[in-house]
Amino acid sequence: MDRTSISRRCFIGQARDTAVVTLAAAAAAPAVAQTSGKAAARGRPMPDGVTLPSAPPRSPRPGSVGYAVVGLGDYALNQMMPRFARTERSHIAALVSGNPEKLRRVGDAYGVPADARYSYAQFDRIAADRRIDAVYIVLPSGLHADHAVSAFAAGKHVLCEKPMALTSADCERMIAAGQRANRRLMIAYRVHFEPHNIEAMALMRRRAVGNIRAVRTEQLSRTDPSSRPAENWRIDRALAGGGPLEDFGIYGLQAALYLTDEMPESITAATYQPANDPRFAQVFASVASQLRFPSGAIAQLMTSYDSSGSNIAHVRGDTGALIMDPATGYTGHRMRLEGRERRDIALGDPTVQFPRELDHFSGAIRDGSPIRTPGEMGLRDVWLMEAIYAAARTGTMVRLSPDGRMRG
Ligand code: NAD
Repeated sequence: MDRTSISRRCFIGQARDTAVVTLAAAAAAPAVAQTSGKAAARGRPMPDGVTLPSAPPRSPRPGSVGYAVVGLGDYALNQMMPRFARTERSHIAALVSGNPEKLRRVGDAYGVPADARYSYAQFDRIAADRRIDAVYIVLPSGLHADHAVSAFAAGKHVLCEKPMALTSADCERMIAAGQRANRRLMIAYRVHFEPHNIEAMALMRRRAVGNIRAVRTEQLSRTDPSSRPAENWRIDRALAGGGPLEDFGIYGLQAALYLTDEMPESITAATYQPANDPRFAQVFASVASQLRFPSGAIAQLMTSYDSSGSNIAHVRGDTGALIMDPATGYTGHRMRLEGRERRDIALGDPTVQFPRELDHFSGAIRDGSPIRTPGEMGLRDVWLMEAIYAAARTGTMVRLSPDGRMRG
């Protein structure tokens, strides 16, 4: 596993430092410099820290949805795949990887039959595999769109990791492909299934802090100084877009929307891309944005690959505050309500978010139920990220339509 992933894990877990980031060159932020142009799926070594199951999983229950997991990286192997064991109606039916040895080891450990293990070059063959109902795309973000379109062409449903894609055009291509195939599409925004975040949404809806005036989010971590794009897709523009905003900053953006329950009407932003730092030859080191909502609430979002770790969402209303720190990680959530109602809120194990996310999509496939985090939500967020970059590039306030598209 590359070292960026290690620092991400620290961030995602228990990051508690509050970072102060100076956006010295923000006003004159350059556009992303260049791309490496090598956005193709390829095999990677087994990530660090993987514990493979010691016994094969139980047999799937009748009606369980069979998933092909595409991309055997850190998040798939360390977070999602082990959580299938806690689902009610989801199981791993197939694997897709570019590393034959990793495919063999992981396939053996998860009891995936040898003829349900595919390379990227064999991806289209999943069409004929009746064991596969859905494809779970856990590839670098620049590879999501093409694989989703191919999965729909193969007649499968698609659960796609965030960000949905790197451009709104790609998101629209994915949605159209799903509609053509009459298959479901969900973006894997796990926080919508995490108890603290769900409770935070409910508290804000019943005005536990009064009228929301200010939201502040920070999703920060530090990329290892030795990182090079060839070794680390997260700093390769073709695979990662602008960098931290698409990676974990998207959770701060999401939080601002689901906590206010509003869409912003305008955005201002600043980016910072230092010269002579190989980590940031292609992606931004930091992205800060300010969103103004029709109610008058203002959100300030900060995300960085070059800062000590932080993962917070704070909401201040006219009668109280909600402090989430850490806010959107895998586990270890802490939440405090201040003001008229004053209490710490602990809601049990946040890792239920993983199996609940999987079973939510399986339920949508089997029962035709609505999807809480559909492709349209992923597209909305990519529109907003495009607006953030446009605001930073032009140094002007960007006005938005209610759906998140830039006006004019
Ligand atoms: P990773 O680098 O650990 O794994 C990526 C995997 O993709 C590699 O192991 C490899 O098997 C495969 N791959 C195929 N082509 C590749 C290429 N050209 N370069 C590099 N890898 C290639 O990354 P990750 O942390 O597992 O992230 C994968 C996806 O999951 C990303 O879209 C990321 O945004 C998303 N993710 C989501 C969350 C979340 O909280 N929902 C957390 C982490 C990652």
